Amino acid sequence: MPSHPKPCPKCGVITAEDGFSIDRSKAGGRKSHCKICDGQRAQAYYDAHRDELYAKREAVREAAWEAELKALERRHRRKVAAARKLHDAQVRRQKEFLRSIGVPDLSPEEIMARGSAE
Ligand SMILES: [Zn+2]
Repeated sequence: MPSHPKPCPKCGVITAEDGFSIDRSKAGGRKSHCKICDGQRAQAYYDAHRDELYAKREAVREAAWEAELKALERRHRRKVAAARKLHDAQVRRQKEFLRSIGVPDLSPEEIMARGSAE
């Protein structure tokens, strides 16, 4: 069981227990290097892998955005399909009504042709 204060094996500075970060995986419950050395190690790792870490975060963001776009597209397609179905039903009902009151079912071109003939 390591007892504190003790020298950090990296920098050699005699350091109190709270100068070592908590690490429950270690027998003493603390990291073996002092907080300052540990922070420098973390910073060095970050500096060495900055681009790689950035690319990883970008990839995660990109994937989330792609998934969001796909979901939006699915929702939009369902909305358009529902609107089209409603529109087709309205057109059908209108044509049935016009037929029921004896209005001939003409295309816009036929209507224009009739108008100019008169
Ligand atoms: Zn140290």
